[in-house]
Amino acid sequence: MNIPNSKYLGKLCKGGHEYLDTGKSLYYKLGYNCVECAKLNRKKQSNTEKYKEWQKFYASSEKYKKLNKKLQRRYREKNAGNIKKMHKKYTDTEKFRKIAREKTRIERKELKDAYIKQILCQKNKLTRSMIPNELVELKRAQLKLTRSTRRAK
Ligand SMILES: [Zn+2]
Repeated sequence: MNIPNSKYLGKLCKGGHEYLDTGKSLYYKLGYNCVECAKLNRKKQSNTEKYKEWQKFYASSEKYKKLNKKLQRRYREKNAGNIKKMHKKYTDTEKFRKIAREKTRIERKELKDAYIKQILCQKNKLTRSMIPNELVELKRAQLKLTRSTRRAK
């Protein structure tokens, strides 16, 4: 049996780490720690340190969101061609068109935000994120009124 100079065989440790078939554990001469127990402890410690780091990172979530956005933008820039192709491939199917039509129909019927925003965008050259909720509410009320008067005629 080959035991390195820095280590020695002692009684079985609390963790029951038997060295080969000796019925004993291998210890560091320095510190008198079982080699396997020390390994586990190191692992545990590094885990918690990493965990704390991640927690800190997530705590400053604004930073994280910014980074995420940056990465997404970079990905889109890099893969713009592919994404376009994939999008076209997906939207170019009859199944997709059917789903999209049905979605639009429901949105129009129930005056959903998406439908109202779409109208507002077409008429005013706005982007969706620029439209405040109040404007959506107003437009919805207006559309409801228009519809009910149309029905009354
Ligand atoms: Zn041990």
